[in-house]
Amino acid sequence: MSAPERVPEHTNEGDTHNTAGQRYIPISTLVRTSVCPVRVYLERYEVIMEPPEYTVAKQVGYHLNGLSDADTETIWEEIRLVRPDIDDSMKEYLKGCIAACRGLAWEEPVAADVSCTNSKYGISGRIDWIFSSKPLIGILRATRAPTYGVWKQDRIRAAAYLLAAEEMAELNSVWRSPPSEVRIAYIPSGVVRTVAPTASDRRSLLAALRKAEAIYCGKTPQPPPDAPCDRCPKRESCTRGAREPQTLFDRFFRK
Ligand code: SF4
Repeated sequence: MSAPERVPEHTNEGDTHNTAGQRYIPISTLVRTSVCPVRVYLERYEVIMEPPEYTVAKQVGYHLNGLSDADTETIWEEIRLVRPDIDDSMKEYLKGCIAACRGLAWEEPVAADVSCTNSKYGISGRIDWIFSSKPLIGILRATRAPTYGVWKQDRIRAAAYLLAAEEMAELNSVWRSPPSEVRIAYIPSGVVRTVAPTASDRRSLLAALRKAEAIYCGKTPQPPPDAPCDRCPKRESCTRGAREPQTLFDRFFRK
């Protein structure tokens, strides 16, 4: 599975530094880098806003236990509080998420929104849920679930969270063994899947980490052969997008 519907990456994992001044690369940036490092490079000075779909899905995520239609107004009020500029049309999206997640068998987490960092690899993130039973880590997605399994980018995301969780001493003292799986809740589909990242997923994560570090050092990255240029908002400003025109007119007349 490699092509989830496009909901931009949320950015509640903004760059952080530790007391020694070490810069951490957000996990969301690593996932974006795995898709196209050129886009990350082009957007390096831009503030990337949290997509409204994520805001809605995130708030639904706090109510998954015993969710019902009656919760619509309560959750909408919370969303308006968190994001006063949200468009009223997103209320329909909220209703769809609630309908999808109603009756979902859901274990109450022991903690939510837990910051995690791995100083060895310089990555940081925020774990949506910590559970007392396996899989111990849960993350929330505002995309629909694939037919089977999880999206490729979510496998890399899961590998990154497991890596970040390695240095969470307070949790590792509670867990009998370190987590090796992540549960992923696809809120718009009301589907929860478990993923155990493979060696290939971890290799992809390390490759993304190296590329992101190079971007942070000012190096210009190369686009991957499977970069999703046809649906990229940076297409006009990207030389790769301009070098690979899509129409006959572009092919013959645009340089
Ligand atoms: S147009 Fe293609 S290569 Fe350029 S940033 Fe977008 S996805 Fe990457």
